[in-house]
Amino acid sequence: MPYKFECYQDGCNFAVRADSREEVVRLVRTHAEAEHGLSLSGDDIEPEIDEAGTDDL
Ligand SMILES: [Zn+2]
Repeated sequence: MPYKFECYQDGCNFAVRADSREEVVRLVRTHAEAEHGLSLSGDDIEPEIDEAGTDDL
């Protein structure tokens, strides 16, 4: 089951999906730091990760 994350910052359309939660966290942390200057921890990101269903591709 893939996982997805949609950035919740205002005006940001960033969304990511990956096959593991760890990969999503890694990609989101990179994005948050590069685009928003935010240093997020895994604990910040984990609750925002959703499972991506097959109807959601
Ligand atoms: Zn963003």
